[in-house]
Amino acid sequence: VEPRKQALIGGLIDACRAVITANADHLSELDRAIGDGDHGTNMRRGCEAVYAERDRIMTLPLPQALEQIGFTLVMNIGGAAGPLYGTLLIEIGRQMGKNGEHADFPRVLEYAVDAVARRGRAAAGDKTLLDVLYPVYTEVLRRSDLAGIAEEAERSAKLTFGMKAMRGRASFLGDRSIGHVDPGAMSCALLTAAVCRFLKE
Ligand code: ADP
Ligand code: MG
Ligand code: MG
Repeated sequence: VEPRKQALIGGLIDACRAVITANADHLSELDRAIGDGDHGTNMRRGCEAVYAERDRIMTLPLPQALEQIGFTLVMNIGGAAGPLYGTLLIEIGRQMGKNGEHADFPRVLEYAVDAVARRGRAAAGDKTLLDVLYPVYTEVLRRSDLAGIAEEAERSAKLTFGMKAMRGRASFLGDRSIGHVDPGAMSCALLTAAVCRFLKE
């Protein structure tokens, strides 16, 4: 694997870990309002597990590295978000791997986001991280620039405030879930923005 690609993988791992570390308390606070208060802790555990494997992951080609990060997230995040973020990265890696350098990224992302939706049996508007992933996919399809994608992710996470949760723990609250930002949507927006900022540099 070329040094430049190794640096890309390492940099992405570090950027994601940094944004989760900085926002873990906020994410858990959002989860306390409509869930069980552990989303920040869960995400931090996942990022630390990936960080512990950073050196080994950096020796892998990008598709395999993403797949490996996905497996590590599934095994370590715990809670609903683990299999969902895990599925996203595993499927991005697999779809990229199939087409190598010629992978059409919007198609890759479309496939991966649909896989997350199947995994969670969730749809757009259910007040989950999919309410960030679908808009991000749309921006990628439109070939928006990185700043535009990050902005749309953050705007979309805020829009979950008015939604009623249909999946996950927050759905047990019914109408009382309205009036709170979904923690998974917020972590997804933060991660998207962190990845976009890193790629822009
Ligand atoms: P848990 O609810 O098990 O404690 P987390 O707190 O880590 O897990 O993650 C909660 C987040 O996971 C929610 O805010 C939501 O965005 C997402 N989520 C939960 N269940 C589903 C689902 N079935 N489909 C899609 N996303 C979901
Ligand atoms: Mg939780
Ligand atoms: Mg939990």
